[in-house]
Amino acid sequence: MDIKNVDSTYIANTYNRFPIQLCKGNGSLVYDENGKEYIDMGSGIAVNSFGFCDEEWQNVVTAQISQIQHSSNLYYTEPCAKLAELICKKTGMSKVFFANSGAEANECAIKTARKYAAETKGSEFYTIITLKNSFHGRTLATLAATGQDVFHKDFLPLMPGFVYAQAGDTDELHRLVNENKCAAIMFECVQGEGGVIPLSQEYVDEIVKVAKENNLLVICDEVQTGNGRSGELYSYMHYGIKPDIFTTAKGLGGGLPIGAAVLGEKVQNTLTAGTHGSTFGGNPVCCAGALSILNRIDSRLLEDVKKKSEYIINSLCSAKGIESVTGLGLMLGIKTVKPASDVIKICMEGGVLCLSAKDKVRLLPALNIPWNLLEKAVSVIKTASA
Ligand SMILES: *Cc1c(COP(=O)(O)O)cnc(C)c1O
Repeated sequence: MDIKNVDSTYIANTYNRFPIQLCKGNGSLVYDENGKEYIDMGSGIAVNSFGFCDEEWQNVVTAQISQIQHSSNLYYTEPCAKLAELICKKTGMSKVFFANSGAEANECAIKTARKYAAETKGSEFYTIITLKNSFHGRTLATLAATGQDVFHKDFLPLMPGFVYAQAGDTDELHRLVNENKCAAIMFECVQGEGGVIPLSQEYVDEIVKVAKENNLLVICDEVQTGNGRSGELYSYMHYGIKPDIFTTAKGLGGGLPIGAAVLGEKVQNTLTAGTHGSTFGGNPVCCAGALSILNRIDSRLLEDVKKKSEYIINSLCSAKGIESVTGLGLMLGIKTVKPASDVIKICMEGGVLCLSAKDKVRLLPALNIPWNLLEKAVSVIKTASA
């Protein structure tokens, strides 16, 4: 049996896979089982920040693997402490909890918000306002946080304690704050899975204002938008705000599983020994990889991300068959006249791998994608959309 048959026989049916097997990658190029070459515009869903098998990252990771691959959180290890220090130094936040995925990072943020609110206001203040069309993960708590019925429907009853506000509707935000005993407001500055839709500056300002007036925590989900993806280190920085908690994962490890809940001053001591934990969290190999990734996301790289973003937007926004391009940095959604799935299929045949988000073609290329490959990919997307 070939791999596709083995996979369909033995892997749970939760994924609709594209019909190719990826065998080998190098930077922004990847090769399938027939040796066909593709330009990768998806980065494993914003994970491979510096592309496939980046040499610098690979060296750091393999060096750590030959030192200590795992220790549990019963002992100190250097990569985990250094990574937490770097995240805090770069953001002005106070402490970090390491998890292994975006959903788990959000679980930690939700637990922290509930405990903080219970201790400062009372245990009935557990409601968290999230946004309609958001995505926060697939565990039962983060599923409840996700404001999309399609993800909920087969898994009721939902965990209580979440209400959903329509992004942009400040009246609804005020109404929900008044009608519920709330702990926090949690949101993505750019809704990723929801169709790559940035929030407006006015709405984000209103969230922060309402949170301040009502003593609610502000939680930014930077799982997809974080680690340079948006053109800033974290996307909340575009809006000039400072959350009480932000979470991140995807691009942080450069291809290894790691998530982080990053805690500001207010909540830095909310979680105490025994109140939360993770066996794999802070794994030294993942942290060593993440440390090398985060160290390389400097102002020069971020400028480059912004320039590449502008180039993609300018090339595509008025092209034939394209209605709009939305997003920030190298996280872009293209609304095409043709169904997105058709455009993605034509691109794949033309040697370019794209993703989708709702009804859009979604681009999440490596932050360091070379200009010549980017230009080639954009021209294939343009032709496929026309
Ligand atoms: C992908 C994603 C998650 C979930 O991350 P996992 O690592 O798949 O658990 C949560 N929030 C946002 C915004 C995401 O894009």
